[in-house]
Parts: sequence; structure tokens; C-alpha cells
Amino acid sequence: MKITRLTTYHAAPRWLFLKVETDEGVTGWGEPVIEGKARSVEAAVHELSQYVVGQDPARINDLWQTLYRGGFYRGGAILMSAIAGIDQALWDIKGKALGVPVYQLLGGLVRDRMKTYRWVGGDRPADIVAQMQAHQALGYDTFKLNGTEEMRLIDSPRAVDAAVAKIAGIRAALGDTVDFGIDFHGRVGVPMARTLLRELEPYRPLFVEEPVLAEHYEHYARLADTTSIPLAAGERMYSRFEFKHVLAQGGLAMLQPDLSHAGGITECLKIAAMAEAHDVALAPHCPLGPVALAACLQVDLVSHNAVLQEQSIGIHYNQGADLLDYLINKEDFACVDGYIAALPKPGLGVEIDEERLIHANRTPPDWANPLWRHADGSVAEW
Ligand SMILES: [Mg+2]
Repeated sequence: MKITRLTTYHAAPRWLFLKVETDEGVTGWGEPVIEGKARSVEAAVHELSQYVVGQDPARINDLWQTLYRGGFYRGGAILMSAIAGIDQALWDIKGKALGVPVYQLLGGLVRDRMKTYRWVGGDRPADIVAQMQAHQALGYDTFKLNGTEEMRLIDSPRAVDAAVAKIAGIRAALGDTVDFGIDFHGRVGVPMARTLLRELEPYRPLFVEEPVLAEHYEHYARLADTTSIPLAAGERMYSRFEFKHVLAQGGLAMLQPDLSHAGGITECLKIAAMAEAHDVALAPHCPLGPVALAACLQVDLVSHNAVLQEQSIGIHYNQGADLLDYLINKEDFACVDGYIAALPKPGLGVEIDEERLIHANRTPPDWANPLWRHADGSVAEW
């Protein structure tokens, strides 16, 4: 079998799909994207296609190494996302060619179904309790929300109190009937992270995500020493070569690599194993589309330390399309009591509605995250 062609489709809300075709008619799908940089990743995919077209898709390990090492310069959000999407499509092809789900090729299931959580509250957390209650009625009991809005490096107790009041409101209204993680989203610097972690501890969040930006990872261990809240990060780390420094420094209880950003299934399996060796949990980042989620589930289903899976149904970014819109086999992604069962179809387990993608690609989305500024006019982290 030889790879013949790579085709990309832009689709609302902010996604990029990749179709990899072969001369034997087996087709694989990937989702190579950085939110807000879909065109940059698309260009990288097509630039990398010179290493892929004409090659045997079964040699995933060799193709991955070629894509990573062959161009001398490596790593980073754009290149590793391009590799991720190609890698996902190669696993999809292999599974379909052999007639088995990818998790069978990875040694088989360690669990029957995977626990997921839902986003509530949006960019500027609001209506949290009402949204949690609505989702509870659908069987969800685990959530994630943004912890703060703009936060200055040193900020007022009023900003801290406002953030804490929202979390306190959840426990006051819903008691222990819900679990939730709090995403600091890189908005909080080291000084305020110390304060917020202390103030939030009584409300027992499952985890705090990106307590500080990944580039300040050396602070994770120091912050972890001040709190019993498990700390999580990883969506802005792109390979095992970045995660090794983070694991060596310590402090994180949970790694959140993104299967569409960190080199795909091939790389994230290795990151998962590195985490397991440090007694660190896995919770792949996935505010993206169905191919990305399917790739995450393949890794979750074979990784003993996978504890939670993010998914984007109803997420505040999903304007114009939602998670299952481009899928034919929507029923395979049914969330029952917050769990998604092992996907039954060969390959990644997605049947893509290509006609709908072709239609979507005619009006490509132009999503970009908001640019926030502090009251003094300086750029704020979003
Ligand atoms: Mg996050």
C-alpha cells in the first residue's frame, strides 16, 4: 500500500481535517490544528507531505521519525500539530486495513469505557451552577471551568475573592454531587497562583489546570508543595522531550497532552507511559473535533493512568458546529453517565461525513481567541 494524496478541509468552529488517501482505497483521517492557527498548520502538513506521499502507511514509526527528525528543525506547536494529524490518519489507515480498532493494535483495552467531563461557564465564568444542573440531568457529574478572568501579576484581594466566590457558589448550591477541575488558563502568575490555590483548597477541586504558564514549569513543584490540590498541565507542551523536563522537576499530578498538538497517538502513548512511571495521571486535552477526540480515546483506552477525557460537546468555542456534526456514526460517541464506551469501528472509530466537510470548507472559519487587555492597556493572558 502507498500513500497517494493528502487533502485538508477547514470547518467550523475552528477545526482542520486531514484526509490521507492510499492506492488501495483505504482512507485515514486526522485533525492537525492549533486553535487560531489552522492555516499555519495546514501549510506545515502540505510541506511535510513530501516525506509521506509514495510511502507505505504501515510504517508509522518510521514515518513519524522522518517527519520529526528529517527536517533538522523540530518541535513546537505548528510542526508537532502537523505531525499529529498525519500520525492520526496513519493509525486510522492501519486499523481499517487490518479491520480492528486502533486500541487493538496498541495491546488492547485496559478499560471498557472512558470518563469524560464537560465545560461550563465560558471564557468569563458565569451561569456555572445552572449549567452544571442542566448537565447533571443528562448524567454528567464532572466539569471544568475557567477559574478567573484577567489577573494581574500582583492583583487585589477583590480579584481573588471574586474567583473564590464563584467556586464557593458551586459547593453551596450543589454540595458534593459534582466534581470539577478549575482551569487557570495561564492567566495567573506565580504570586497570585500561590494565593488562589490556598483560598480554593477548601472547595476541593479535582485539579487546577495550568496554575501558571507552561514556560514557568519549574514552579509547578514549588506550588504543589503549598497545596493538596492536584496540579495539571500539558496542552502547551508538544513532545516527550518537553514533558521529560516537567516530570523531572515534579509537581504535576496529571499530564494533559493534546493528541492533535503533541505528535499524535505515537508520541502521546510515550508521554502517557512516562507519566505512568512517575505515578502521574493522564487527562488528554481536547477542546477540538471528533477525530482528535477519537485519537484521545484510543490512548485512554490502553493507558492505565488515564483518568479523565476532555470533550467539546457544547463548549463555548463551538459556534457554527458542534462535536458530532461531521460524524456519520454519532451513536458510537454517546455519553452515558459521562462515559464514552470503547469505539467499535476499525481504525480511529470515526466515519466522517465528507460531503459536509466539503461544504464547510467553502466558507472556512476565521476563529481567533480574543485579545484581552488589562485596565492599564497592557496585554493580558487569555
Ligand atoms: Mg486548559
